Amino acid sequence: AIEVHGIHKRFGILPVLNGVSVSAQPGEVVSMIGSSGSGKSTFLRCINLLEQPNDGRIVIDGEEIRMKKTADGNAVPADMRQVERIRSRVGMVFQNFNLWPHMTVLENIVEAPLHVLKEERQAAVDHAHALLKKVGLSDKHAQYPGQLSGGQQQRAAIARTLAMRPKLILLDEPTSALDPELVGEVLRVIRQLAEEGNTMILVTHEMQFAREVSHKILFLHQGKVEEEGAPAEVFTNPRSERMRQFLARTF
Ligand code: ATP
Ligand code: MG
Repeated sequence: AIEVHGIHKRFGILPVLNGVSVSAQPGEVVSMIGSSGSGKSTFLRCINLLEQPNDGRIVIDGEEIRMKKTADGNAVPADMRQVERIRSRVGMVFQNFNLWPHMTVLENIVEAPLHVLKEERQAAVDHAHALLKKVGLSDKHAQYPGQLSGGQQQRAAIARTLAMRPKLILLDEPTSALDPELVGEVLRVIRQLAEEGNTMILVTHEMQFAREVSHKILFLHQGKVEEEGAPAEVFTNPRSERMRQFLARTF
């Protein structure tokens, strides 16, 4: 489960997040939608502290990330070891896959389990093969990322994320760098993760998909949650005019 309260983030004088809150119960999928520049990626990056929020509370799996105030009034994590520990169990899937190009698919997947979780090599390799099977890439374990299609690379990246046995999976536009004919194979894997009860926060422009897999939709506008609710409500009967306009442009 994750609870995030009142995240604020500025870059210099530019306010990007103005008090964003979200919660996901175990097994829930929350999708975040919104225009380019509304702060979706920044919000995901704040959740796993790739960016430091200026204010707010983050509780992952019952453990609150301890923050302290600096002289300039910003909140920063008080204990980087706690951050590392929590971050190792928060998976992130990026738009551009971010596989290590000089490692085979299998090496990409076992790297963090071996070095961060200190798993035994054989156990990590066995787990990796099981994950490759799950994402439909059993025959690609010895290939390098550059030898794979975009859809295959993203499925390998998802397998790599799952290898860390994440409590929470963050996905930032996982299909938006893909050619249209490759989107479906990645969405199928994400749908399967949802059905298996993974807790996920998904940033996406795939509205139909978000509607089908999500328990909750958040519409972000200028760094604020402008609309929030069950997909059936939010998509068919949005309360906010901005959400209406956004949907009109998207569909
Ligand atoms: P998109 O749909 O295009 O991915 P987004 O909703 O993910 O957009 P963000 O990437 O979170 O938007 O960016 C929100 C705002 O923050 C933008 O105005 C962006 O220029 C700014 N921003 C993001 N990262 C930084 C940074 N490291 N330094 C300065 N400004 C930043
Ligand atoms: Mg983004």
